Amino acid sequence: MMSAMERDLDRLCQQLDDTDALATLLGFTDTDDIEALRARAEALTLRTIGNRVHYRGLIEISNICSQDCCYCGIRRSNAHVARYTLTQPEILDAAQWCAAQGYGSVVLQGGENTSAAAVEFIADTVTRIKALTRNPRQPEGLGITLSLGVQTSDVYRRWFAAGAHRYLLRVETTDPQLFARIHPPEQTLDERIEALQALRDVGYQVGTGVMIGLPGQTLVQLARDVLFFKTFEIDMIGMGPYQPHADTPMADEPTLSAAERLQRALNMIAVTRLVLPTANIASTTALQALSPEGRELGFSYGANITMPNLTPEAARQHYLLYDEKPLYNEDTEPFGDILKRRLAKLGREVGLHEWGDSRRFTDRHRT
Ligand code: SAH
Repeated sequence: MMSAMERDLDRLCQQLDDTDALATLLGFTDTDDIEALRARAEALTLRTIGNRVHYRGLIEISNICSQDCCYCGIRRSNAHVARYTLTQPEILDAAQWCAAQGYGSVVLQGGENTSAAAVEFIADTVTRIKALTRNPRQPEGLGITLSLGVQTSDVYRRWFAAGAHRYLLRVETTDPQLFARIHPPEQTLDERIEALQALRDVGYQVGTGVMIGLPGQTLVQLARDVLFFKTFEIDMIGMGPYQPHADTPMADEPTLSAAERLQRALNMIAVTRLVLPTANIASTTALQALSPEGRELGFSYGANITMPNLTPEAARQHYLLYDEKPLYNEDTEPFGDILKRRLAKLGREVGLHEWGDSRRFTDRHRT
């Protein structure tokens, strides 16, 4: 027998194209409601994706950025940041470490740098990572995801030709007013959406996402974000709670409490899973910033990807997008055992030596 609560949840889950139904699910605060939503999203994940979680080793290659996003700690105008760029050998070392551990993929992330030299540096680094990480267990080398902001189609093509095959570019919010409030006027929502389209046209698996709990952000706006992921045929989702950074113009704007932001981000993962059953969804570092178990919670709400931070120690402290970003990295303990054990407790295992591509992408391209 279904309880009244389960009947309500069932009814809402039959209206997953309806903004108000999604907003209701996202706004769940009652413990039983939340648990029912979580269990449903987890069960769906196990059915569509299976119990494997894939690692992408995250290498934060540079904090030099030409953009001035009002929430971000490494924005151009923050004079308190010591700017760095990793050397190519540092990046290649980290990538080889990943391959040796059996991580199937790396993510190269950084501030936005559109100079010709920076573009060539990335292209060359991608080519070298591919060449260095081919081995009998992964004959095509590591999968490479880039997260390097808005660039021209030509740049996206150049990096794709070099061997990158996935790209993450968060839209941050799909609400035009909210987007305008958190970015300087020269950065526009249309430009981001055009960039996502350009990435799609070049052939990348396309990832996007939003921040959750931005000052003034409503549940209806978040519901529309999820519907955007669906209508735009997004393959990969990376989202996390907004976390203020003291040296940014938004530092003093009131937000939800940390606990509320965490729960809303988890609800957002669950709802996104219900709406996009085969997408890759990451459990992100920002969840970990709000709770030591944040990442594990993300998996139990429907995430299937994690990006352990492999940025060399000396650089990591300068890539502070927000306050309280975790610096210690237990994932580089031998074989990432701590995370592996925690995943085992959730009934999940690590998919080693494989790219773990988005099923949403492969299904779409099957003919
Ligand atoms: N420059 C690249 C990637 C670096 S920033 C790009 O623009 O894609 C990666 C992500 O960190 C951003 O997309 C943003 O969603 C997130 N981020 C930045 N500042 C944040 C903050 N204060 N709280 C939470 N997430 C933040």
